[in-house]
Amino acid sequence: MTHRIVVLGAGYAGAYSAGYLARQLHADDFEITVVNAEPDFVERLRLHQLAAGHDLPHRPLAEVFAGTGIRVRVARVTGIDVDRRAVTVADGDGVDRLEYDTLLYTLGSTVADHGVPGVAEHAFHVAARPAALALRARLDELGEGGQVLVVGGNLTAIESATEIAEAHPELRVSLATRGELGGWLGPKARAHLLRAFDRFGITNHEHTAIERVEAARAVAADGTVFASDATVWTAGFAVHPIAAASDLATEPNGRITVDRQMRSISHPNVYAAGDSVFILGDNGRPLPMSCASAGYTGTQAASAIVGDLTGREVKATALSYVGNHISLGRRDGIFQLVDKDANAKPGALCGRPAALVKAAIVAVSAWATSRPTFGKLNHDYRLATAGEHAWQPVAP
Ligand SMILES: Cc1cc2nc3c(=O)[nH]c(=O)nc-3n(C[C@H](O)[C@H](O)[C@H](O)COP(=O)(O)OP(=O)(O)OC[C@H]3O[C@@H](n4cnc5c(N)ncnc54)[C@H](O)[C@@H]3O)c2cc1C
Repeated sequence: MTHRIVVLGAGYAGAYSAGYLARQLHADDFEITVVNAEPDFVERLRLHQLAAGHDLPHRPLAEVFAGTGIRVRVARVTGIDVDRRAVTVADGDGVDRLEYDTLLYTLGSTVADHGVPGVAEHAFHVAARPAALALRARLDELGEGGQVLVVGGNLTAIESATEIAEAHPELRVSLATRGELGGWLGPKARAHLLRAFDRFGITNHEHTAIERVEAARAVAADGTVFASDATVWTAGFAVHPIAAASDLATEPNGRITVDRQMRSISHPNVYAAGDSVFILGDNGRPLPMSCASAGYTGTQAASAIVGDLTGREVKATALSYVGNHISLGRRDGIFQLVDKDANAKPGALCGRPAALVKAAIVAVSAWATSRPTFGKLNHDYRLATAGEHAWQPVAP
């Protein structure tokens, strides 16, 4: 019998981890299946670009994993039965059950509507490719003077507003945020951000909480009405409800509770990584949802799986948070470093150099994730006997 490893999600965490596993584990002993809703590896970091009208390279998972031995199942995960070790999936042919011995959960996150009425029905978002394409189609059909309201004041809101304003100079773009736009940034970065918003002609409504979204307008808590032909909801991410609906231990926000090596604290044959996981970083604070966090937690989870199943020592992966790289359209950006308490440092790299750094990071992430085995298949490590993998949970 081979040991069945099922990886849920082929985003930054899942695709990279699956490749890591394929690189290390002996194909006679292990069978690795990746389940993903989309047939391609989707560069989520660039979905605001896609929405604004830029085309992204196609990276079919069948090609990404070709020659690795990894099986790809294009289907939507609808549930997990962690006690029976099975996943329910649905595709065009109906509903199916996949059994596993070890599960790696990396289903990422989606848009958080915070329970605001009308968001689900009327707002657009950029948290997933179909949604970004729907926004793109809407922006394309708006004529001169069409009004776009971006809701949120954080990274995705900033990137979306500037990208749309740059690609669609014919539209009137505004942003509403309950706090300050980029209020967490250091003084240099924030001043640069405000100048960029001025340059793009984006109207900035700070301290404005949107409480209702309708087909052609959004209404703030103080009753102010914003006419909007396209309301773009970028007010944060939330995880899919699948983990919380199972018997897995999860946090109140639905993220999976794990030990330091990414094992579920309730079901140690289930591992989690990326946006789906709740873990304290090396600075003692929750690791933010980010591509970097997906890389660190994915590496740690895959390393733990290899160690646990083959009897090898599990190496600790650093869980760092060093800062944010923010695009402001295609030619401008901000690279903001943070200190050990996750507070922004006073200085920042801004302008064209920051845009180039961001472009390089995005390119390297896509390159690494879409070449999951880096062309190397060692396939060395064999499945250990039960007594050989007697590991203990490792506290965060
Ligand atoms: C527009 C945008 C810009 C961003 N910019 C940055 C940035 O500059 N820097 C940064 O660090 N982070 C950025 N992020 C956040 C970053 O993209 C995420 O933190 C990162 O993608 C998390 O990786 P992941 O592997 O956990 O999830 P994902 O990359 O989202 O992968 C999850 C995978 O699971 C699949 N999936 C989801 N649900 C199901 C299901 N039910 N069944 C089957 N498959 C499913 C998805 O199709 C996807 O392939 C950005 C996000 C967005 C939306």
